[in-house]
Amino acid sequence: MVAKDTDFYTDGVRSGNRRILAKTITLIESAHPAHRQLGRTVVDRLLPDTGKAVRLGITGVPGVGKSTFIESFGMMLVEKGHQVAVLAVDPSSTRSGGSVMADKTRMEKLSVAPGAFIRPSPSGGTLGGVARMTRETLLVCEAAGFDVVIVETVGVGQSETTVASMVDFFLVLMLAGAGDELQGIKKGVLELADGVAINKADGDNIEKAEMARRSYEMALHLLNPATPNWSPPVLTCSALTLAGVDQLWETVQDHRRRLSASGELDQKRSSQALAWMWSRIEDGLKERFFSNPAIKARLRHIEASVRRGELSATIGAETLLFLLDNPG
Ligand code: GDP
Repeated sequence: MVAKDTDFYTDGVRSGNRRILAKTITLIESAHPAHRQLGRTVVDRLLPDTGKAVRLGITGVPGVGKSTFIESFGMMLVEKGHQVAVLAVDPSSTRSGGSVMADKTRMEKLSVAPGAFIRPSPSGGTLGGVARMTRETLLVCEAAGFDVVIVETVGVGQSETTVASMVDFFLVLMLAGAGDELQGIKKGVLELADGVAINKADGDNIEKAEMARRSYEMALHLLNPATPNWSPPVLTCSALTLAGVDQLWETVQDHRRRLSASGELDQKRSSQALAWMWSRIEDGLKERFFSNPAIKARLRHIEASVRRGELSATIGAETLLFLLDNPG
């Protein structure tokens, strides 16, 4: 029965059926354990069909122009004949409100383009939960034939690091203006960047954008590049006039060519997969810990004893971990 279900989803996704693709993502995002398990099995079976897309992460503060940029960039790619999927990691989003990212209403043309598929951020609560769903969705989209997968995120907490760890190229959108420059450097987001683009380089803003471009370029020079084969470039673009948008795609492709030639792209992906496994192990252990009935029964009491100094932190931890292996 489950085997038949699995085939239904895997065959549907492989044939590029959008309805079945959406259903598969719903399984991945489901709170129902059996559905989630089925989703995992489907992802696992589809694994041989994954890996062929350009995985592109995009971040920037709210208002920088992410959705406008993705709309323009995505339309350009679709017009070049690419199949583009847009996903989002936004742990603050809920379906009923909040800042739902990669929203269809924010990308009017792309959302109805036959070559594009847009999926808003799952309302998973924790970053770990949202990241799991997005990463699995990315794989499923690849299996469905999308050759460019864009993962959008806003700079909340660790979400930028999380997205950078699931993509090949991480693009940071910035605005001209002293405040942003410092902000970017402080948050360490530039260290994650494979490329930086100063958006809204249009009209009266062109000169300021060029100035910002130069100061970011200097800031990036001070950072050691992650690889001798790639120094993250700083460009300017306008999501409205499309100036520079084509060059950004050229940059992504250039990065890909160089890192493929040196073998670094494969290395990057395998270390990402390994890091992903470890983060799943950590999540799984935590889940098991907190759902263990014996631990649940004693957790509060032990916490209180440690807080009052009646029990050492080490003994408290050991007692709880002992319960994980010896529930009786
Ligand atoms: P997001 O919050 O990062 O997704 O930003 P949006 O895409 O919603 O854009 C925020 C505002 O900036 C909107 O009013 C856009 O029309 C405007 N905007 C976005 N890109 C550009 C651009 O390249 N040039 C100009 N002048 N405005 C832009």
